[in-house]
Amino acid sequence: MQETFYFGAGPATLPKVVLNKIKNELIDYRGMGLSVLELSHRSNEFMDVMIRAENLLRELMGIPDDYAVLLLHGGATAQYSMLPMNFMHLGEVADYVCTGHWSQKACNEAKRISNINQIDALVDSKLKSIKPIAQWPMSERASYVHYCENETISGVMNDIAGMDAVSLKASTLFCDMTSSILTRPTEVKDFGLIYASAQKNLGVAGLCVVVVKKDLLKNDVKNTSNFSPMVFDYKKCFEAKSLVNTPPTFAIYVLGLVLDWLKAEGGVTEMYARGQQYSKSLYELIDMSALYVNNVDARCRSDVNISFDIKDVILYEKFISLAESNHLLGLRGHNSVGGVRVSLYNAIPASGVEALLGFMRDFELSHG
Ligand code: PMP
Repeated sequence: MQETFYFGAGPATLPKVVLNKIKNELIDYRGMGLSVLELSHRSNEFMDVMIRAENLLRELMGIPDDYAVLLLHGGATAQYSMLPMNFMHLGEVADYVCTGHWSQKACNEAKRISNINQIDALVDSKLKSIKPIAQWPMSERASYVHYCENETISGVMNDIAGMDAVSLKASTLFCDMTSSILTRPTEVKDFGLIYASAQKNLGVAGLCVVVVKKDLLKNDVKNTSNFSPMVFDYKKCFEAKSLVNTPPTFAIYVLGLVLDWLKAEGGVTEMYARGQQYSKSLYELIDMSALYVNNVDARCRSDVNISFDIKDVILYEKFISLAESNHLLGLRGHNSVGGVRVSLYNAIPASGVEALLGFMRDFELSHG
């Protein structure tokens, strides 16, 4: 049977080794006669699962001891509310750098709660690009600067960490790394807080991983109404070791398995090398083609989510359906933008990228 490759943006492809392990442990977790789904979150077995997952993440990302790792509910979207709720005093301002759908969504949500300086950093003309940092109207004293490293929908990457210490490090950086975490090396100490939903590179939906500098958790919630529900209070979540309530146990278990796999594959350095190679060959094919076109400035093209259009729009549906009959799934772009999107998360194997490149070449030869 021909192998199926899934390029969807999330929930996304999982390593086969991980799926097989889940299958085996679903009915009988390590000889206990219980499913992993049935384990109590307060049992020693689950504590082990949680501690192992945290330690692996610390090792793979090089997370310093003065940072906490929180395993929370609510996806990245809950973080959009938690950030201003926890880190803004009345009258303070936070800078939100907008480069696409997700950073804009974070900004809009924060505006409902606090005083926000929206920085429109995207030049959304025929070729999408990001304005140089020097042109961003930063606040004099922002409580924090929020940005999204990789815009999953448009395939625009805002790779600013560590780039401009003068204008950014003055303030605390908060970053949405939902679609880029563990695909590239990250200098955690450059950040106040990093967050990522799990369903792309960390496993399955239902979990958001937060890496936060412990110093930031010293104070109680500071929002305008001086109130935040306990599940939305970082300090309480930290003190309760992410067990303010029952955590998403299955997603945490899968996180551990994905991180085990990632370590065995060579860690972040290897993932980065693979991702660079895969995205380079895909962009090369697109740039040399008369049929496919990518509209992102080469300086900020994503190496994780690669979007392109088919110049002859009539061929779009045919491209998608022929791809599907060739077992290449999940290529339809997000509803809001259309086009084709290839998500090259860590679990995509080289054979999948080869199969896609081959299909795109053949499609152009027979339809171009
Ligand atoms: N940020 C980014 C960059 C995303 O890609 C997504 C989901 N695609 C989100 C935030 C929202 O994640 P969730 O739906 O898990 O809240």
